[in-house]
Amino acid sequence: MNKVGIEEIKVQGKRVFVRVDFNVPMDDKQNITDDTRIRAALPTIKHLLANKAKVILASHLGRPKGQVNPKYSLAPVAVRLSELLGQEVQMAKDCIGPEVQAQVQKLQDGQVILLENVRFYGEEEKNDPDFAKKLADLADIYVNDAFGTAHRAHASTEGIARYIPAYAGFLMKKEVDIMGKALESPARPFVAIIGGAKVSDKIAVIENLLQKVDTLIIGGGMANTFLKAEGKEMGKSLVEDDKLELARQMLKAAQGKGVNLLLPVDLVVAKEFKADAPARTVSVDELEADDLALDIGPQSAENFASAIVSAQTVVWNGPMGVFEMEAFAKGTEKIAQAMAKCQGTTIVGGGDSVAAVEKMGVAEKLTHISTGGGASLEFLEGKTLPGVAALQDK
Ligand code: ADP
Ligand code: MG
Repeated sequence: MNKVGIEEIKVQGKRVFVRVDFNVPMDDKQNITDDTRIRAALPTIKHLLANKAKVILASHLGRPKGQVNPKYSLAPVAVRLSELLGQEVQMAKDCIGPEVQAQVQKLQDGQVILLENVRFYGEEEKNDPDFAKKLADLADIYVNDAFGTAHRAHASTEGIARYIPAYAGFLMKKEVDIMGKALESPARPFVAIIGGAKVSDKIAVIENLLQKVDTLIIGGGMANTFLKAEGKEMGKSLVEDDKLELARQMLKAAQGKGVNLLLPVDLVVAKEFKADAPARTVSVDELEADDLALDIGPQSAENFASAIVSAQTVVWNGPMGVFEMEAFAKGTEKIAQAMAKCQGTTIVGGGDSVAAVEKMGVAEKLTHISTGGGASLEFLEGKTLPGVAALQDK
């Protein structure tokens, strides 16, 4: 999975259609409340402008469901982007059609235009070939820098690449290179940590990683189901009783493959799912019938950390406990610190896990923070992402 990046192609004088992820949060007055995603796209945009391309940006925003809806206009993004770039960003009234075409024709080298929300057309999410062709007709080259939507085969993420040469932007390339290498030819030992609320969300991730890792660490709410499968009393903890058999099969599969599977040996429990509920640390054999397991205990965190620190590749998805509550955040914190200490390649993916490492201030010490929640999960599941597959291989 070695994709051609934009630094390897000539873009001067070319019309370059760039699919970015400008799906930023806004308040009811359409003020952008967090511009991280706009900033994240700057390296690709600046590279193209500096190399005198005519840059045509496209994105979705929210869920307008195929209807034109001013609430989901990208116009505020054009204003913000213009401030960040220090140059004019033209705002198109639409993303296809004669008016947009005329506007694009007038673009000079080194100028940039932002198309209106591609999801104002139902054809976008249907990956309609005619719509994709109309988008492609605006440009000579396609660049995808929106990893977060790469797991969707939409017109602006996949269909368009059938008509014009398609390359990876910097953000996309980084995701694919680092995550691709970790999963295809990892430096070993390769350790994966899977947590979060439920086993059922991550069955395919666990199954795929079991084929690849040396050590698989299971924490968070989903560990409860594995512990119960091993015969432990889990009290009132979140357990998926319909997944007990599957958990047993996974434990057996790990053994068969020689994968070192680590489960918690102690837990932080409380009687209520509340931030100020009195918490106790107990061994996994000591839960009472009315206990809720809300975090891994200190001995478990220690065991997990020692595997992480000595690894050459670590992939982490899913918090170790209810980290949103201070009293149950310590397990997740210790894992984040161990990741920061690890000298190998360290990767974090998943909405809540990324929020956790950012909150804990270790983000800069990690090799890679995957931006796309759903996309990175599908990557970890071993699926081919249509938006990635559409890009040219080396
Ligand atoms: P990610 O977004 O990183 O993929 P998930 O969405 O799968 O992670 O899981 C995160 C959620 O899991 C958090 O809201 C957290 O509170 C919850 N969680 C973790 N451990 C437990 C637990 N022991 N009991 C209940 N919920 C838990
Ligand atoms: Mg989540």
